[in-house]
Amino acid sequence: MTQGAKGIIFIGDGMGGRPCPELDGQTTVEAANTPAMDRIAREGSCGLMDPISPGIPAGSDTSHMAILGYDPYKHYRGRGPFEAKGVGIEVRPGDVAFRCNFATVEGRDVIDRRAGRIKEGTDQLAAAIQEQVPQIEDVEIIFEPSVEHRAALVLRGPGLSHEITEVDPHDPDVPYLDSKPEEGAKDMAAAEKTARILNEFVKRCHEVLEDHPVNRERREKGEFPANIALPRGAGTAVDLQSLEARYGLHAAMIVEVDLVRGLGQYLNMDVIKVEGATGGQDTDELAIAKAVVAALEDHDFVLANIKAPDLGGHDGNAQMKIEAIEKVDRALGHLLESLDWDNTTIMITADHCTPCSIMDHSGDAVPIAFFGNGTRPDDVERFGERACATGIIGHPRGMEIMDILLNMMGRAEKFGA
Ligand code: ZN
Ligand code: ZN
Repeated sequence: MTQGAKGIIFIGDGMGGRPCPELDGQTTVEAANTPAMDRIAREGSCGLMDPISPGIPAGSDTSHMAILGYDPYKHYRGRGPFEAKGVGIEVRPGDVAFRCNFATVEGRDVIDRRAGRIKEGTDQLAAAIQEQVPQIEDVEIIFEPSVEHRAALVLRGPGLSHEITEVDPHDPDVPYLDSKPEEGAKDMAAAEKTARILNEFVKRCHEVLEDHPVNRERREKGEFPANIALPRGAGTAVDLQSLEARYGLHAAMIVEVDLVRGLGQYLNMDVIKVEGATGGQDTDELAIAKAVVAALEDHDFVLANIKAPDLGGHDGNAQMKIEAIEKVDRALGHLLESLDWDNTTIMITADHCTPCSIMDHSGDAVPIAFFGNGTRPDDVERFGERACATGIIGHPRGMEIMDILLNMMGRAEKFGA
């Protein structure tokens, strides 16, 4: 049991955005009905944050790293290791880890990069891959399913490198690619070997999945078969100081995406899984909020993330994104009712913008608001991109957030005498 002030960072993934023509020029956050966020903004301290630095579109992984105070430019080694660690694969020095998408291909053409956002059966598909492709040359293959269409792959063996090009073309209706050594790779022989093994893995994976019963059933139902796994984001193990050692905070993480969960594990946070937290539009936001309240009983700090707003952004679907933002708001409403705000400080934010007009992450700043213990009110009346721009916190970067929060919590150390 820990005593003293508590802190929360609550993230609506990709919740920030740009004005939408179909919303009369409002952003999705501005258009959504968000009484809890608006109260947090009205009574708390607001601002805009550049997750990494101005104009840099952040990934969820690099943004969460930065918001927790770990410089991604120093520590980031690709997202593969986080995804792998998040699904429980240990990534050892020398391993090369990838995130994968289950996808649909015809010949070499990628028809759907997410296999129709497959939700069920990926554990059976992954088991078939693991059983039938346990090794290529002298390299062990470790393959595990993650949330929805996502999976993780680790290559373990001598002489491997992460300096190889992508297999996943990232665009629909084009062929998937052969991995090659990156130009100027430090160890060209290792990069050539890794690319060769990865290409062989993709080929074998397609053979295993093409006629798998799960896919036969999907075809019968008129759904896209998940008949290939496309690896991307090669990376090697990272070495990060634990959050507790860094800030003296006994910390927990409640997030829905294995990629971010993996970061939490690297930081030695208690990574708490919540029943009903699906990572999708149907997630149980109240279960997540209740888990945050419960975690604060024996932790000083909790980082929580609800993934759904990012999905609407990537789909270019403003209405879907608004509904997801309103889910985040209901979770925050539960926190407002349940916690002792004389002793607790919360920061709400997005980890990046995912504007519907771009259908991907942008480098725009995101609205932020701090509420509770140690905050100073400003004139901001509601939560949103333009309202928060006039707030008292101003315009910090992600890397500065933990210092701001620790100060409000009364846990900052004096610099000087
Ligand atoms: Zn994100
Ligand atoms: Zn995203």
